[in-house]
Amino acid sequence: MTNTIGITALIPPELIYACGHRPLDVNNVVPESSLSPRSKLCAWTALWRDLILTGSLDIDSLVVVAGGDCHNALVDGQKVSLSGLPTHYFFYPFDTNTQYLHSQLKSLEGFLGGIKDHKMFKYIYRLKKKGLALEKQRVNDNARASDIFSALICFSDMQSDPYEFENLIDNIPDTDVEYSSRVAMIGVPPIYPDFHKVAEEFGLHIVYDELPYEFIRLGGNDLQGLAKSYKDYSFAGPIKSRIKIINHELQKRRVDGVIHYTQFACHHTLEDEIFRDYLDYPFLTVQGDLPGPTPEQLKLRLEAFSEMLEIMP
Ligand code: SF4
Repeated sequence: MTNTIGITALIPPELIYACGHRPLDVNNVVPESSLSPRSKLCAWTALWRDLILTGSLDIDSLVVVAGGDCHNALVDGQKVSLSGLPTHYFFYPFDTNTQYLHSQLKSLEGFLGGIKDHKMFKYIYRLKKKGLALEKQRVNDNARASDIFSALICFSDMQSDPYEFENLIDNIPDTDVEYSSRVAMIGVPPIYPDFHKVAEEFGLHIVYDELPYEFIRLGGNDLQGLAKSYKDYSFAGPIKSRIKIINHELQKRRVDGVIHYTQFACHHTLEDEIFRDYLDYPFLTVQGDLPGPTPEQLKLRLEAFSEMLEIMP
């Protein structure tokens, strides 16, 4: 029987599909939600928690990324678990230990009832190759960042239907993009669904989205291969590695400036001063809270940042 498995952060989708189920990244419904959370720190976790508890999000079980990601998710995940929903806790190793991650994947496989369809590993690999091609398209100015971001952010679950998803990514239009500056988005993704479109209106071409790019890791055909690939999931590891990866991507993509999106009550906000010290680029820090259209005040700041980048030598 195919079940819908809610995931609170990156879990190898190829493993969930190979076990005969469909993943649903519970974060991906948050930006379009108009629910007012009952109690909250971070709106992402509070909203998916309430969407599950009120029955608005139909899942059969939940996998909470409990280690290497977010303690807000851990607490809100446990609230969901207390309601009776079968819940599994997944831990990434901070020290990127492959054997440890292998044991976590093994235990996740057990929770999911075991691998039934090995073909899905290859199929998802092929989809991810297409994701990397999309990345190239926008870096080469042949696709709008808003279209590419909408696709990349779904690589955590392939919208619960990889065949439909493939159709969607195959139909992303080729467009010659005009812009005034190339920028990178680092941090967690913005909670405002129109953010990339708004940035485009101000001439900012977003050529790197840190977290969604992390989703397109080419895993292996078995648990050992997945462990080797996912151990480097940078959000779960030391910030030193993250800085190295980000600096590499910023250079490769020839960015003019960096936007650090932070979320109210998220511990990643504390990383802002580290990034400012280690990334030698014009830097804009923005913060969001509840989902909705990008606020006017934030639009003004994006406009000012764009103008500043334009006059910089
Ligand atoms: S924004 Fe921060 S606090 Fe919120 S779910 Fe993501 S990692 Fe957790």
